[in-house]
Amino acid sequence: MSSSTKNDRAAWLLGPGAKCAVIPQPRTRPWKLVLLGPPGVGKGTQAELLCRELGACHLSTGDVFRASGASRCAASPAMTEAIRYMLQGQLVPDSTVWQLVRERSGCLHCGGGFILDGFPRSLAQATALQQLLIDESISLDGVIFYVMPVEDIVARLSGRRTCQRCKAVYHLTGRPPAKPGICDNCGGNLIQREDDKPKAVEVRMQAYQQVTASVTQFYREMSLLVPIDARGAANEVLARTVTALKARRN
Ligand code: AMP
Repeated sequence: MSSSTKNDRAAWLLGPGAKCAVIPQPRTRPWKLVLLGPPGVGKGTQAELLCRELGACHLSTGDVFRASGASRCAASPAMTEAIRYMLQGQLVPDSTVWQLVRERSGCLHCGGGFILDGFPRSLAQATALQQLLIDESISLDGVIFYVMPVEDIVARLSGRRTCQRCKAVYHLTGRPPAKPGICDNCGGNLIQREDDKPKAVEVRMQAYQQVTASVTQFYREMSLLVPIDARGAANEVLARTVTALKARRN
């Protein structure tokens, strides 16, 4: 079932007018999913693995902002403002995020299916998405919600070290560098990001819970929420996720 070619997601990353060079292989029943979970649970890794496994496109709103920030072409004033918010570590205003998702709604009809990641992040975004899906006659198969005890998240994030120069990410126990404190890629110094320190992680978790509790509740009430234990190795979490998704279709 899994595909070896990575979808290039040009239409999602670059917006209306851009065409995907790697067209996802059409599926008889493409998966239409939303991915939720706090920072540190490995949501990014699971998104990648799931997309390969299910052949779906990884529609991450954060990736759209990063791609736009990295490209040198003139962005719209709304996008320039959105990137400013992102660089300050703040959420981008709902109206801006919504504008970019609506412009890219063609991706929700992709024959390979989709996995929305990083969106919706507020109740306003969730209700706007729901209305769009109704208007476009699209039904979600499920909303995967990765869960992990706060202590485990703190342990994961506080062991993380980032290269000051090339930004490569390591983990003291999970993915240690060959030489302690030194980046394998570029020889730069490895540091602990301020927001990965235990106190800051707890604050980030509280902020996450405040903002997204309403989103998880929204999907729980629609019987779409699929909670998944995010502890353990990435492959185990993937297997758990695929099993839970398939059980919903049976
Ligand atoms: P992510 O990669 O999902 O963590 O997103 C990176 C950054 O992009 C976030 O910290 C926000 O600044 C911005 N962002 C991405 N998606 C959203 C969203 N749905 N609502 C508001 N801001 C977002």
